[in-house]
Amino acid sequence: MTEHQLPPGEKWRQFELYALGFRDFAGVRPDVPLDPFRLAGFANLLVIGFDEIKGLSPEVRDHLLGAASEQWSGGACSIPLPDGRKIVILNPNHGRMRTNATLMEEVSHVFLGHKPSRLKVVAETENGQTVSREYRKADEEAAYATGAAALVPFAALRRFVLEGQPSQQIAKHFRVSRELVEYRLKVTRLWRIYRDAHSNK
Ligand SMILES: [Zn+2]
Repeated sequence: MTEHQLPPGEKWRQFELYALGFRDFAGVRPDVPLDPFRLAGFANLLVIGFDEIKGLSPEVRDHLLGAASEQWSGGACSIPLPDGRKIVILNPNHGRMRTNATLMEEVSHVFLGHKPSRLKVVAETENGQTVSREYRKADEEAAYATGAAALVPFAALRRFVLEGQPSQQIAKHFRVSRELVEYRLKVTRLWRIYRDAHSNK
């Protein structure tokens, strides 16, 4: 592996290596978009539509899709189905680009072998409580960072930056949000090169 394939910093190198492993596993080249919905099956996750959730009162539904919609992006249910799969629910308001990052984080938790540290009650319905898994803070960082690296690998990102591509265009290429590309530019220390290339435009 050449020096330009991994970002600086031991921690970020490790995340990158895991992420490249995910892509390898999915048989997806490092410079093309990665579809986390394809990986979800391998991670034993079953993504269901928000409308398929039973037992939500109209008030709770309206709250989750209305006033509280910006406060949740999605997550996996703590109790597996009889066949071992875990249900993942994604916020239908957030659009495919944000959803890709949310689902990729859930896939990362599974592939990285994270164990939930505790359960958190997210909603109470007439049928009981809805609980979600909560991970340790370090595991949350690792899952998000590794998921983001899987979606936007360093080597390809670096090449696009050196070609002078704006973050919007890179985001479109990888089917993620511009915010996610800019997060990747910062954590992989490409931000300065990027900013210098675009400062006079
Ligand atoms: Zn998480």
